[in-house]
Amino acid sequence: MQATNDRVVSIKYVLRDTEGEIIDEISTGEPLQYLHGHDNIIAGLEEALEGHASGDEVKVTLPPEKGYGHYREDLIQTVDRAQFEGIDELETGMSFHAESNEGPMIVTITKIDGDQVTIDGNHVLADQTLDFSVLIVDVREASATELEHGHVHDDDVTAH
Ligand code: ZN
Repeated sequence: MQATNDRVVSIKYVLRDTEGEIIDEISTGEPLQYLHGHDNIIAGLEEALEGHASGDEVKVTLPPEKGYGHYREDLIQTVDRAQFEGIDELETGMSFHAESNEGPMIVTITKIDGDQVTIDGNHVLADQTLDFSVLIVDVREASATELEHGHVHDDDVTAH
C-alpha cells in the first residue's frame, strides 16, 4: 500500500544536518506513525514520501523553507514574569505551548533577567537544511476516528 492522503504511515528515519551529524533518529524501537495529509509532519517530508510503499527507502534533502522555516527575530519576545503565573521556578531552556496569531507554537525561555523573561518561538531546527533517510515500515488505511481527529490512534490509547 502506498503512502497517500488519509493513510497511516509508519516510518523510521535518520535526520542529519549538512555536515552529516545526526540531529534526530528513530531507527530502533517503535516507528513513528503519522496520518498522511493532515499536517502531522513537515510538508516537505510528507511530499517526499507521497506514493512510496512499505519497504521503500526515501532520501530527501529539505531546505529550511520546506523544513522548519527561517529564523525570525520577531518570534523573540521579552515578557513579564507574571505571564508565567502558576509556575514556581522558571529556567532557561524550559519550553511551553503557546497560542499565537499564527496558531499553536512552542516557545523556549532563552534568558531570565529579573522580572523580564525572554522567549523564543523559533523551532530549534529553524534555518537548518535537513537531510532525511527514511524507511517506510508500514502503510495502512486510517480508521474513521483517526480521520475525524486528524491524527493516529495507537491501540493502547483509547481516547484523546
Ligand atoms: Zn484523537
